[in-house]
Amino acid sequence: MSSYAITTFGCQMNVHDSERMHEVLRGAGYTEAEASVADVIVLNTCSVREKAEQKLRSEVGRLAKQKRNQRDLVVVVAGCVAQQEGERLVKQLQGIDLVVGPDNIPELPRLLEELAQGAPPIVRTVFDTETPKFLTALSVAGASKTAFVTIMKGCDERCSFCIVPYTRGPERYRPSAEIVAEIAALVAAGVREITLLGQTVNSYTDPTKSLPPAPDANESDPDESEFAALLRAVAEQVPDLARLRYTSPHPRHLTRSLIRAHAEVGVLARHVHMPVQSGSDRLLKRMIRRYSRAEYVERTAALVAAVPGLTLSTDIIVGFPGETDEDFDLTLSLVREVGFKGLFGFKYSERPFTPARKLADDVTEAQKSERLARLFELSERLLGEHLAGLVGSTQRVLVEGLDKEKGELWSGRTDRHEIVHITGAAGLDLAGEIVDADIVRNNKHSLQGELSAAARASARPRVAPEKAARRSLPLVVSATQGA
Ligand code: SF4
Repeated sequence: MSSYAITTFGCQMNVHDSERMHEVLRGAGYTEAEASVADVIVLNTCSVREKAEQKLRSEVGRLAKQKRNQRDLVVVVAGCVAQQEGERLVKQLQGIDLVVGPDNIPELPRLLEELAQGAPPIVRTVFDTETPKFLTALSVAGASKTAFVTIMKGCDERCSFCIVPYTRGPERYRPSAEIVAEIAALVAAGVREITLLGQTVNSYTDPTKSLPPAPDANESDPDESEFAALLRAVAEQVPDLARLRYTSPHPRHLTRSLIRAHAEVGVLARHVHMPVQSGSDRLLKRMIRRYSRAEYVERTAALVAAVPGLTLSTDIIVGFPGETDEDFDLTLSLVREVGFKGLFGFKYSERPFTPARKLADDVTEAQKSERLARLFELSERLLGEHLAGLVGSTQRVLVEGLDKEKGELWSGRTDRHEIVHITGAAGLDLAGEIVDADIVRNNKHSLQGELSAAARASARPRVAPEKAARRSLPLVVSATQGA
């Protein structure tokens, strides 16, 4: 029987797609193996930034050399670069046998079978725009306490720097009943926390029109969606769900109905990752983000006012074409004003098929590096101050598993997304539990807490620590964000 290995580049959507590829391949009788000995190597690619695409090209070059000694090795390129480049990949790079787009993952076993029968390299990158299909979890690994559920795919925004509308196609939404049913099944199998996934997750509209309108929904507002109604339906219909998150939302759809849902739906985490990209209105316009700095600040402030203590994180691009020192200073001042507790910063890189290609990439590499360093310095300081302020408090932590590097330490997150490593739990099984931890120290990006006496008294003893701790996840090479 053939074996396979998957390497994942990019965002949570790709991680989710890789999990589904594992299931599709296992279901067809393939077994997972180390990449050095696998018969089929799948590279699930990202094209959001040039660096990720370069990584793919060097990896394919390495595999082409490996093929000289392993003639039967099958190299599959999946994901956004596959969708973007299609035939060109096979023509330009030696050694690729199959190029498969995100919407064609269920066809993987059939396509591999065609190759086994002697077919020449195959390219299959067709969007399912007519009858969209959403990949759902076929099974849940025993130790998995968190899971992603896709609610929409594609993007109708046209941010000038972004290739996603090209690689993932137009927005398509999943029926709300299917979403709720998948979450209910995952929770019944032991999952505690669900993250709803979509490129602009909060533009969600139920294609079956079966959700009652959410309170404060304003149907005449073009930014309104049915996302708040979906959150309410999930909370009501899956009462055993411990925590609900989503990624990545677009600031445009942070409407009153969504803010009210955050205030009223208890299962929603008190953390939102809300990409802003820049603090300069001039650049937001050039990026075609369709909101102003003032609107972003006003909406996120209303969210924080509705949910005291809610934390925000964001994505920022530095060095977008035309970005001046003044523009960048506005970004820094926005970061301070909003008080983000986490930040993904990226240097702008020109992507094919994007409107920003018409703008001169006129910020030097040195300027981009210098700005990124200053941005990270500020965000690290803000996070450091925030974490230091939590020392001495007691935090509720959803424990996700044993810290792989530190062995005996359990790790999890608070509902505000702070990472907590828990001591004082030797011999106990905390996987999936929500426990109180007394915070004794702050690290650079996390907290250290002592398991509370009450939690220790009621915890299960650990039976098979190795099995409980390890979850078979695809290798993630780098992380980028969506909207
Ligand atoms: S940045 Fe987000 S919202 Fe903008 S085009 Fe890309 S995926 Fe869509």
